[in-house]
Amino acid sequence: MRLADLITTLDPAKAGSEMHALATRLYPICRSISGPGLRETLGILGESMPLKTFEVASGTEVFDWTVPKEWTLRDAWIKNAKGEKVVDFAKSNLHVMGYSVPVRAKLPLSELRARLHSLPDHPDWIPYRSSYYKDTWGFCLTQKQLDSLPDGEYEVCIDSTLADGSLTYAECFLPGSSQDEILLFCHACHPSLANDNLSGMAVAAQLAGLLQKAERRHSFRIVFAPTVIGSIVWLHQNEAGTARIKHGYTLALLGDSGQIQYKRSREGDAPVDRAMAHVLKQSGKPHVMRPFTPYGYDERQFNSPGFALPVGCLMRSPNGTFPEYHNSGDNLAFIKPDSLADSLLTAASALAVLEGDGVFINQNPKCEPRLGKRGIYDGLKGKNSLGDTELALLWILNQSDGRHSLLDIAEKAGMAFATVRRAADALEGCGLLKPA
Ligand code: ZN
Repeated sequence: MRLADLITTLDPAKAGSEMHALATRLYPICRSISGPGLRETLGILGESMPLKTFEVASGTEVFDWTVPKEWTLRDAWIKNAKGEKVVDFAKSNLHVMGYSVPVRAKLPLSELRARLHSLPDHPDWIPYRSSYYKDTWGFCLTQKQLDSLPDGEYEVCIDSTLADGSLTYAECFLPGSSQDEILLFCHACHPSLANDNLSGMAVAAQLAGLLQKAERRHSFRIVFAPTVIGSIVWLHQNEAGTARIKHGYTLALLGDSGQIQYKRSREGDAPVDRAMAHVLKQSGKPHVMRPFTPYGYDERQFNSPGFALPVGCLMRSPNGTFPEYHNSGDNLAFIKPDSLADSLLTAASALAVLEGDGVFINQNPKCEPRLGKRGIYDGLKGKNSLGDTELALLWILNQSDGRHSLLDIAEKAGMAFATVRRAADALEGCGLLKPA
């Protein structure tokens, strides 16, 4: 079955709750840009798709960057003078600044303060902080926790290891009839944050499920890696293969209740952009099309001039535009099964356009062919208007001179791509249409 047909069999409520359940399972894991939490996450994702993991050693030079040391965090806490834990990693992995070096010390609050991060404007939320390229340590806590700490001596412990190891990424490769590839990329390095980016991983996992069942034209490569350094490592290790990538999307922030927003590729009007624009317009739902900017997620590495891969970013509320961004407010209640399902349908529909698009030639170009005698046209006279499928037949026959793709025709006719694709199948079936 084609992806387009599989989409019609999808139960959004079931898919939404499955995605939320996956996010719930991954949420407690302490992830970072390397280390056991990242590996455990990739292991879970690999239960539902053929996922191959790759390890790249610390110190490996990747373009202008270096793969950092591997970070493992076992425990961390701050104890007050009475020996009570006032901040405890066991309660939230956001309490420890990512990549904190090990520390065991006693120090007064006046000194400890410089190591403590909070959000005065949102006193109940724990911020998410990390420091990958500087040897330092720190804790994150709510403003309320911070305000409740009396002056005095505190004992701190960060039981971590920062040592030579490796950075992990994983790929699910699903071959198609063509070697041309569609890349889907999710960052998988954030700790307990739901929208950023368990939502992206959950949507990608459902897409992987659909694509495994689909009859595929393109080959699909779904990559899970740490953000920034992960996509740079991936591009470095796979540079030779990037010529096969014809289309791509990064998937992030797909579970909040905001409207869908799509950031175009650097090219701006690449097939990925046109496919997504078409799907969003046809959905009739409010959405935002954003121009490319060299900021945001890993699309900026793929779109760098040395690669110039057409990769857009599908998201809902963009990074930095909602108060829950990068803090404990981005929890499992913040992501909604309905939103996840809507994001999934949008992504799958755009992929179905890329899979189904093509340029054809009308084999009977001199005047209209008689469709009735070929059994693909309801020849009933006296109807005031044609059905969509019949109109699509006429549009395709008229436009298929080798210069217009099915997506061009769908756009020109103001019709859903799926309708045009179905009509093209009927015309191909009776020999009136052939691929250009
Ligand atoms: Zn983030």
